[in-house]
Amino acid sequence: MAELNLILLGPPGAGKGTQADRLGEDFGLPHVSTGDMLRAQVAEKTELGQQAKRYMDAGDLVPDEVIIGMIEARIAEGDARDGFLLDGFPRNEQQAEALAAALRSQQRHLSGVLLFEVPDDEVVRRLTGRRVCVKNATHIYHVDFDPPKHEGVCDQDGSRLVQRDDDREETIRHRLGVYHAQTEPLIGYYDRAGLLRRIDGRRDPDEVHAHARAVVATLRLEEGL
Ligand SMILES: [Zn+2]
Repeated sequence: MAELNLILLGPPGAGKGTQADRLGEDFGLPHVSTGDMLRAQVAEKTELGQQAKRYMDAGDLVPDEVIIGMIEARIAEGDARDGFLLDGFPRNEQQAEALAAALRSQQRHLSGVLLFEVPDDEVVRRLTGRRVCVKNATHIYHVDFDPPKHEGVCDQDGSRLVQRDDDREETIRHRLGVYHAQTEPLIGYYDRAGLLRRIDGRRDPDEVHAHARAVVATLRLEEGL
């Protein structure tokens, strides 16, 4: 039984989440986001969530074995039988090895790894330009791409717009540093395995999506689907 088992790789702010949602609709695959899954586990106060929360509250990374256990169970669920779009995992080579082992134990393999390439300065521009409403965090703007009618004021309710701590330049630069040190080695790792497909993530989201969709369609042919 052929499947389409995909990883989306790239720096923060590259648009992986958006692209995963759109590809998921195109190909009928679930978007498996480790960030969303961890937040849901914490909100539901599951045992795994409480375990993960202790690390997150202490400002530490959630250990690999906690994440891999969660992913292994998730990709074994019925909706991921024909494949999945993995976003936010693996983040380092140990996680990549653990994922390979988990797939082997389920008699499965990776179909491809989509790398969304965006230079650091563009990531900084995208993320530091974000402004959020103090009253409703779903009211999100961008100083360049989606500005409010009046600077610093929410169009929907007139509240003040602020920059989240997560979106400050020093925080973004730190996250990029972690990405370059830990996640970037995966580019060579998957390239050597013949799985890497590069996508120019600087273009607008529709163009990025069109390219990514064509790449996935080709991978699907290669899987004999
Ligand atoms: Zn608002």
